[in-house]
Amino acid sequence: MTAQIIDGKAFAAKVRGQVAEHVTRLKTEHGITPGLAVVLVGEDPASQVYVRSKGKMTVEVGMNSYEHKLDANVSEVDLLALIDRLNSDPEVHGILVQLPLPGHLDEDLVINSIDPAKDVDGFHISNVGLLGTGQKSMVPCTPLGCLMMLRDHHGSLSGMDAVVIGRSNIVGKPMAQLLLNDSCTVTIAHSRTKDLPDVVRRADIVVAAVGRPEMVPGDWIKAGATVIDVGINRVDAPEKGEGKTRLVGDCHYDSCAEVAGAITPVPGGVGPMTIACLLANTVTACCRANDVAEPEGLTA
Ligand code: NAP
Repeated sequence: MTAQIIDGKAFAAKVRGQVAEHVTRLKTEHGITPGLAVVLVGEDPASQVYVRSKGKMTVEVGMNSYEHKLDANVSEVDLLALIDRLNSDPEVHGILVQLPLPGHLDEDLVINSIDPAKDVDGFHISNVGLLGTGQKSMVPCTPLGCLMMLRDHHGSLSGMDAVVIGRSNIVGKPMAQLLLNDSCTVTIAHSRTKDLPDVVRRADIVVAAVGRPEMVPGDWIKAGATVIDVGINRVDAPEKGEGKTRLVGDCHYDSCAEVAGAITPVPGGVGPMTIACLLANTVTACCRANDVAEPEGLTA
């Protein structure tokens, strides 16, 4: 079997198009422009790139983008004061603090100081609890993107066996929760899991969020399973020239694609969906804040 490729880039463009339509509706029918504030502390190059592209795409869908760049040495008090201002600013519907934060800042404290209704990353403890109890919440962007692609591909996920490899708070755990809420039978695997290949072989859906290049080979995959590869790993690519690198996922693409029914590529799979879902969450938060019917299909 050769797997169908789940084109995350095209899917993300479609989601951004839907977001843009809702933004237009909010502007013309309600006189509201959704706004997303992104807070960047320090000068980590990767974080700077993410924040730039988030800002660019926010503007492209017609929303207001507010960027707050703070010195790497900013005090916790000053950072919390900024979040407090953004919490009470009616023009700001979503707040994202780019992680990781420098070591002197308490990440949990900072995230939990964001108004849960504006927590478009879905990391606030209230949103984690709401998701865990199947209530309306802000859903973390990367797992939300994976869920959207799975629902689009399969329709109903009910009764499917899903294995999520990785138990991080930002990907693995919320992904498992979303799959459980969609009535999958869910196994969460991690670095202490025994017989990982056998566990993965049982799965109709495999979500790999590990951070280890090409760790999952094709012979771990059940014939016809759907493989969602969250991993983004940079590896040496001497074939492209000296010092060159390329991106690979946590799954060995070629061997998995021979067995799977469907697979997301890296790059061009889960990655583009993450920012699209951040924009979707911002429009959802804006609708909820203004008692406007929220768009269908843009959250879990
Ligand atoms: P993380 O916090 O480092 O968590 C990695 C998880 O993988 C941990 O739960 C760890 O288990 C597990 N793990 C490590 N080695 C393992 C092994 N040999 N067998 C089984 N499980 C193992 O990583 P993360 O933040 O979730 O990110 C995971 C990957 O997704 C990374 O490549 C990251 O770059 C990528 N990512 C992509 C996006 C996107 O937009 N596409 C967004 C976020 C993350 P323990 O808990 O036992 O240590």
